[in-house]
Amino acid sequence: MPIPRTYRAEAIVLKGMDLGEADRIVTLYTRYFGKLRAIAKGARRPTSRLAGHVEPLAHATFQLAKGRELDVITQAETRETYRGLRETLVETAAGWYVAELVDRFTVDRVPSTPTFDLLATALRHLNRGQPAGFVCRWFDLHLLDRAGFRPELFRCVQCAVPLEERDHVFSPAAGGVLCARCRAEAEGVVAVITVRALKSLRYLLRSEFAEAARLRIDASLSLELERHLRAFLQTVLDRDVNAARLLDDVRGLQSAGA
Ligand SMILES: [Zn+2]
Repeated sequence: MPIPRTYRAEAIVLKGMDLGEADRIVTLYTRYFGKLRAIAKGARRPTSRLAGHVEPLAHATFQLAKGRELDVITQAETRETYRGLRETLVETAAGWYVAELVDRFTVDRVPSTPTFDLLATALRHLNRGQPAGFVCRWFDLHLLDRAGFRPELFRCVQCAVPLEERDHVFSPAAGGVLCARCRAEAEGVVAVITVRALKSLRYLLRSEFAEAARLRIDASLSLELERHLRAFLQTVLDRDVNAARLLDDVRGLQSAGA
């Protein structure tokens, strides 16, 4: 379906960079057209009506005109302000985290409404004050699933034997959990995954957010889930997530009482 010369697109800004004196190039994740880069001319002038709409995590309906290289944003109307999300550093960093992951797991102009909805759902719950770590882990699993990288949590990823109800090891390189027999021969980094962490990951993976939010996760379980999924994401992406390091820094500041 050809896109007309001007078109409207509901989108969330994943990231942006300044260009020249007053322009800004933004990466939009649109509901129906997938990821695209667009230019907002003059958006950094104080008088620009686009100003508030070209910052990361802005969620708006954009009017765009087809350009030779980049499409041009001509107008924008706010859909969600996510005011709560911008009030604390942890939630803001978590918002950047989910946006960065969507950017890293998608390619230009491949539409995925489920991915858009997943991103919008995560931002909405961060905005409502749901614990950032919990929202991020639910998001990690569902994004991996949608991107075709779902970790194997039910059977041994190597020999496919159903996993017994006990602690196992998690191998990001193998793509999931290994049984006792296969762990002996495992190469690469493996980490013990406790039975409660394994059950929690399974539950998060198959639950919509409202259902998932009933899960009780204490601090040590939360850390364990984060450790496994971060290692898994690092393996899939071949590097760490920048915003994950930012979240580490923010939490470090908080525990230092700053
Ligand atoms: Zn096995």
